[in-house]
Amino acid sequence: MPPINEFKCDKCGFQLPSGWGGYMYVTDQTGKRIVCPHPCEFATVSQVLGANAPRELIQQRTGFNSDCLCLDCLKEFNIDLKRDARACPHCNSNRIGSLQELVDGPCPKCKEGTIQEIVTGAWS
Ligand SMILES: [Zn+2]
Ligand SMILES: [Zn+2]
Repeated sequence: MPPINEFKCDKCGFQLPSGWGGYMYVTDQTGKRIVCPHPCEFATVSQVLGANAPRELIQQRTGFNSDCLCLDCLKEFNIDLKRDARACPHCNSNRIGSLQELVDGPCPKCKEGTIQEIVTGAWS
């Protein structure tokens, strides 16, 4: 189980939402992405694709939506970094960062501090 940590700028206090990271999804017949809640991801997958869905179908139809932050308008959104264009759906900027890219990087808000991971000691 992953630890629940906080992600915070050491200068201005800008904070990423707790539990940030992303989630697994499965696409239905219409192409809509359905969230597969942790830790029963595969229960949702078999509900959508059928209990005996072949491996290839599962690979085609599942993915991981990452929580991303736009470095220009500071809005949060989810995209699949492997499949979607790296662009902000709000302002079209391509300067975006996922959690992994933001941690230990410059703060997108004050541009002076560093986003640091703070261990809270809590576990999901
Ligand atoms: Zn900052
Ligand atoms: Zn934006």
